Amino acid sequence: MKKFVFTILILVTCLMNKSHAQNLPIGQAWTVVQNKYAKVHTYMSPVSMFANTSHIIELQNELIIIDGQFFTPYAFELKKFTDSIGKPISRFYISHDHPDHYIGFGDAFPDVKVYALSETIASIEKDGQSILEQRQAQFGPMIAKNLNKPSVIQQPGTETINNVKFIFEKSINNESAVSLIIKIPELGVCIAQDIVYNNIHLFIEGDTKGWETALKKIIGDKKYPTILSGHGKEGGIDLLNNNLKYLSDANLTILATKNKEEFKQAMLKKYPQYGGEQLIDIYLNYYLKPKNWK
Ligand SMILES: [Zn+2]
Repeated sequence: MKKFVFTILILVTCLMNKSHAQNLPIGQAWTVVQNKYAKVHTYMSPVSMFANTSHIIELQNELIIIDGQFFTPYAFELKKFTDSIGKPISRFYISHDHPDHYIGFGDAFPDVKVYALSETIASIEKDGQSILEQRQAQFGPMIAKNLNKPSVIQQPGTETINNVKFIFEKSINNESAVSLIIKIPELGVCIAQDIVYNNIHLFIEGDTKGWETALKKIIGDKKYPTILSGHGKEGGIDLLNNNLKYLSDANLTILATKNKEEFKQAMLKKYPQYGGEQLIDIYLNYYLKPKNWK
């Protein structure tokens, strides 16, 4: 744990020094897909800062945002992008209760109405403030001062907003215990968030069977050629298959190694082009504890 905190502190200290020199690496935003009634845009923090995505659904006269970043400067970059579109934000969704998706945006978007599944609302209500304070102690001004906690329950089901049909689904036991998947059928878009990673190391806490089931379910639903991920750019069925392969490789590597360091080195060697090496440190230090490791 100490080593992880140290690594991250070094990273953040470097970035903050750079930030003073106005050199903080910046994120990017792009339009993924559009039709007459809706556009889907993605804002993504730099790969060196976990490539956290926020997706913006632009309807005729409102914006819906999904997920709000980890570090506050990137939530402000997201705000700059949404301001440039010039439409009010009617809903801000949190896909699941991992801090990299909900602690970043409280200062940049203090007044938006925040939606989530009831389990996510309960979890953030219980632990959100203490997690925010822990991260403030670790990362200082890179972390927002305040949370904007979700308060509106999103029930699973179908809803038409501004002439566009949305399907809200609850997925359980995938990368997190409970997560919200949002589908927009007429655009062929499935917003899967952390069920799918793109060119970033997947965050593995333990058994991955539920996660694999969730990936296979999305693969089986052929109506959605565009899958939006929680870390990294969008992709298609190939991306889902890559994620399944990564999970399989990770499980085989767990069995073939004896400790954290061996595992990490083996995964870095298998996926040399992937970002988010620090994510491996985080889950190895906090979560993943295989029985066959010393
Ligand atoms: Zn995440």
